Amino acid sequence: MYDAVVVGAGPGGYVAAIKLAQLGKKVALVEKAFLGGTCTNLGCIPTKALLTTSHLYSEVLAKARSFGVKVDAVSYDFSGAKNHMTKTVTMSRKGIEYLVKKNKIDLYSGEARVKDANTVEVGKNKLESKNIVIATGSIPTLFAPFSEIPGIWTSDDVFKMERLPQSVLIVGGGVIGVEFATFFSAVGVKVTLVELMDHILPTEDEDAAQVIFKALKKKGVSIFQRSKVTSVEPVENGFKSTIETDTEKLQTTTEKVIVAVGRKPNVPDDIKELKLEMSRGIKTTSSMQTSLENVYAIGDVRGEIMLAHVAMYEGIVAAECIAGKESKMDYSAVPSVIFSSPEIASVGLKQKDADPDKVTVSQFPVSANGRARTMNERDGFVKVVAEKNSGKVLGITIVSPSATDMIMEGVIAVKYGLTTRQLEEAIHPHPTLTETILGALEGVYGKAIHI
Ligand code: NAD
Repeated sequence: MYDAVVVGAGPGGYVAAIKLAQLGKKVALVEKAFLGGTCTNLGCIPTKALLTTSHLYSEVLAKARSFGVKVDAVSYDFSGAKNHMTKTVTMSRKGIEYLVKKNKIDLYSGEARVKDANTVEVGKNKLESKNIVIATGSIPTLFAPFSEIPGIWTSDDVFKMERLPQSVLIVGGGVIGVEFATFFSAVGVKVTLVELMDHILPTEDEDAAQVIFKALKKKGVSIFQRSKVTSVEPVENGFKSTIETDTEKLQTTTEKVIVAVGRKPNVPDDIKELKLEMSRGIKTTSSMQTSLENVYAIGDVRGEIMLAHVAMYEGIVAAECIAGKESKMDYSAVPSVIFSSPEIASVGLKQKDADPDKVTVSQFPVSANGRARTMNERDGFVKVVAEKNSGKVLGITIVSPSATDMIMEGVIAVKYGLTTRQLEEAIHPHPTLTETILGALEGVYGKAIHI
């Protein structure tokens, strides 16, 4: 009898299994494909590997000469980039395999069939368990007309390509759409990006999205906002699509069409049979318990915040609850990280969602930062939203090189209710990009030193 069987070895599932093992529990982990799930195999890791190659290529093209670095005949070889991507993915999978073994977790390769709240079958193995953790993730959303036409790509298909297409139409200007537009445009693919809402990255700060809009335009990306693709038809060597904006209807022909309009929870039929209470996905308490007391659900299958770092944290909470601890999820300071160029990272309250009478907003530009100058970077800013009077940091948005690393200062501030003053008193190293955060913090009381 296991203490827990974890179904799905993505970031939520494998972290839950390791935490359970660390807490002395007997655990089985079931995975039908590869360890690491979408994030390791078809998401976070391969995109970031590809984006690192395209970023390096762009940097060399844009900066090498002016930095005195002589590089003759620079070109981009996709097969080399793909090799790097494959190696990174393989190493990440192997890393997880090592951790699973080290923690003495029983790994079952195959499709889990959840029979009831205490039984999971994998092939001929029948696993009896006191608890089940469902971590089956999500799949790309695809609807008509895209679902009816063979050859349309989702993010899953992009990583299988053997060569770069000449042109792509990306439907959806969210995180996936923008990251792919950043990659493809940097390596010379003609990109058209179509977003339904008022601006690309609609959940992010408007000014932040505007920086990325301009950066992508500079790379030659055609961007249509408040627009949708109403028809697609296969033609020789590609697809002919109709784009409807709020003022016109136009046609474009591209070699590939990538649909990136969101993901939906992956709830297999056997799990549906458990008749768990559902909302966007499987509904849980803040302790990750479903409507069946000993069945937990974590990560994308809940249909809420579909981020690997949230899934990992939910995995830890579920494991701790199974081990008898009182543990609850705290979603008050979840960072969002987008690997555009420059990067965007944000946490907490955004200016657009804040009551202007209750907050002070301060912005400091990357162009006024010394370290950024040494890197020939000037696009971007840090925006701090602070509570009036108390100066409590309620939210931070960063648009800058390395924003995705820099955001941790904001995460700690928002999570622990720190004030701008407290952060200012923590010495920021010079010369670093983090001083852009310092500048924005100082600006909350109108006292930025460097602007
Ligand atoms: P998303 O929800 O971020 O973006 C989808 C976009 O498509 C939205 O901007 C939406 O307005 C737009 N859209 C919807 N229907 C449309 C239509 N018919 N025509 C044009 N646009 C349309 O979803 P995603 O980019 O597909 O990503 C899926 C999930 O994966 C998200 O939860 C995302 O956070 C996560 N993810 C995260 C990262 C990261 O953290 N860096 C990277 C990739 C994916």
